[in-house]
Amino acid sequence: MRRVLVAGNWKMHKVPSEARVWFAELKRLLPPLQSEVALLPAYPMLPAAKEVFSGSQVAYGAQDVSAHREGAYTGEVSARMLADLGCRYAIVGHSERRRYHGETDALVAEKARRLLEEGLTPILCVGEPLAVREKGEAVPYTLAQLQGSLEGVEPPSPDALVIAYEPVWAIGTGKNATPEDAEAMHRAIRQALAERYGEGFAMRVRILYGGSVNPTNFAQLLSMPNVDGGLVGGASLELESFLALLRLA
Ligand code: PEP
Repeated sequence: MRRVLVAGNWKMHKVPSEARVWFAELKRLLPPLQSEVALLPAYPMLPAAKEVFSGSQVAYGAQDVSAHREGAYTGEVSARMLADLGCRYAIVGHSERRRYHGETDALVAEKARRLLEEGLTPILCVGEPLAVREKGEAVPYTLAQLQGSLEGVEPPSPDALVIAYEPVWAIGTGKNATPEDAEAMHRAIRQALAERYGEGFAMRVRILYGGSVNPTNFAQLLSMPNVDGGLVGGASLELESFLALLRLA
């Protein structure tokens, strides 16, 4: 019912000339897949992604987008530009954006709305910091973030929205949530989506887990009924480990 999605978030790694070679290698080595694969490199690599991946089974997208449609916003990149480059996805609300750039739930929702206007699918990230989990408040904290980040966000279909649960303490740390903890959070997220968009809709929205996913822990995480794939940072940078993840999906 929900097609597994494995999305690689390259963050601020690699340069366009390296990326072009890497993309071509991925395309060459990729077996036919049942799951969906997406790469999310930095903006300057998107033209190469378009060149290499157009018409292939690899989708691609961006790691952020402007909350504005167009205008005098120096340094910003609009959803329309991403659409023109053939992007299918863009991450919004990654914890690194929230932490280092002060992004609020309201801003994240605004960005998600811009993407939907242009036919792109937001991969909307939520997740709690360590102190919140230690206090036993991970679920209410994450659901409040989800509600705020979905304010006014009306995806036209369940495929037009992806949620990524990324506990902040698990990102880039080598510590992943247990499959059971991830499942409990994903179930709570799906319940909240059902209250907002209706049961039938929520059952079809993909909820990815992110936070130190690697070829050793991915199969167990994926075996959970509400885990529909992974948003992968570090392990998406090496071709071998990314291919290993795709073979498990
Ligand atoms: C991420 O960048 O969203 C992420 C989960 O990173 P990592 O897999 O390296 O923890």
